[in-house]
Amino acid sequence: MRSFLYFCGEVKNMLPNIRSLTLEELTEQLLEAGEKAFRARQVYQWLWDKNVGSFDEMSNLSKDLRKILEERYILQKVTIGEARQGKDGTVKYIFKLDDGNEVEGVLIPTASRITACISSQAGCSLSCKFCATGFLDLKRNLHFFEIYDQVDIIRKEAMARFGRPLTNIVYMGMGEPLLNYRNVMRSIDYITSPAGMGMSPRRITVSTAGIAKMIKKLGDDGAKFEFALSLHAANDEKRNTIMPINESNTLEALGEALQYFYEKTHTRVTFEYIILEGVNDGLEDARELADFCRVVPCKVNVIEYNPIEKAGYKNTSQEKMDRFVEFLEQRGIIVNVRRSRGKDVDGACGQLALKKQNS
Ligand code: SF4
Repeated sequence: MRSFLYFCGEVKNMLPNIRSLTLEELTEQLLEAGEKAFRARQVYQWLWDKNVGSFDEMSNLSKDLRKILEERYILQKVTIGEARQGKDGTVKYIFKLDDGNEVEGVLIPTASRITACISSQAGCSLSCKFCATGFLDLKRNLHFFEIYDQVDIIRKEAMARFGRPLTNIVYMGMGEPLLNYRNVMRSIDYITSPAGMGMSPRRITVSTAGIAKMIKKLGDDGAKFEFALSLHAANDEKRNTIMPINESNTLEALGEALQYFYEKTHTRVTFEYIILEGVNDGLEDARELADFCRVVPCKVNVIEYNPIEKAGYKNTSQEKMDRFVEFLEQRGIIVNVRRSRGKDVDGACGQLALKKQNS
């Protein structure tokens, strides 16, 4: 009996995933199965706008069509493995993927917005020294529908928990989005499409640790969403020590790529700058950052650091942070200070490491 079930499972896994099909592909396949074209649009609405978990829930389809779908396709969905709400309302999720891998996402409510911070890879290959995810191995890239599902879950949770709609999405969870380029771009297509969530691309921010070649590709592809570079140091030597990716993507290469991106998109770039005590919080660091800011129209987010056990870094003092920010502002740079949120549930920036409750 066990081997029979196992065999069934294997057959099921060999079926195509219906959510990997475009509307055109699905229409073609349903026409071949003797169905009308409008049925494909109905199925598509169930798959994306309603984002149901089974063919059975597609209540306006005939039983026969649901059976055809069941026999021909699988429907994979991301589910919530664990949700923990912090004192400031921030909710950290561990999401379960179909193959047993897990990723994290965060719902961040503030007075004016509700933001979903989502993952693009299970683990990460870039090993940034201050980041909890950087201590995990890269397991795999996420499929575009797995990225979409994280947003959809957080969107529904925002309504259920706070009675407010999701307003913003940031690709700042686990993984480097530009190393999973195709799936990230396709997920944004679905999130912004009227057949999906119909969100404005200007509500979406993709953040990279700095892959120069792919920043140029974003320019070539006419990216319409907001774009952030996790800079954290504007000095190659220093940046090499905290972000090894800088060894092959130097500040000069990044500056050139950013100029190319700006020429193509006219999108102002945000530089993220986690401020670490004794590492990048001095006035010389601020001067180097101010110089780097000349490469493109930009603003700077100075981010409070959330220490993690494995890294030896600390957050800087309020006094040093104020001096740093003041220095930049005196040079005409727009600066926002980002306070940490979700610290008590390990959901703050740089803390995502699949740490479970009571673990
Ligand atoms: S900061 Fe981003 S790119 Fe760097 S290790 Fe963490 S998840 Fe990866």
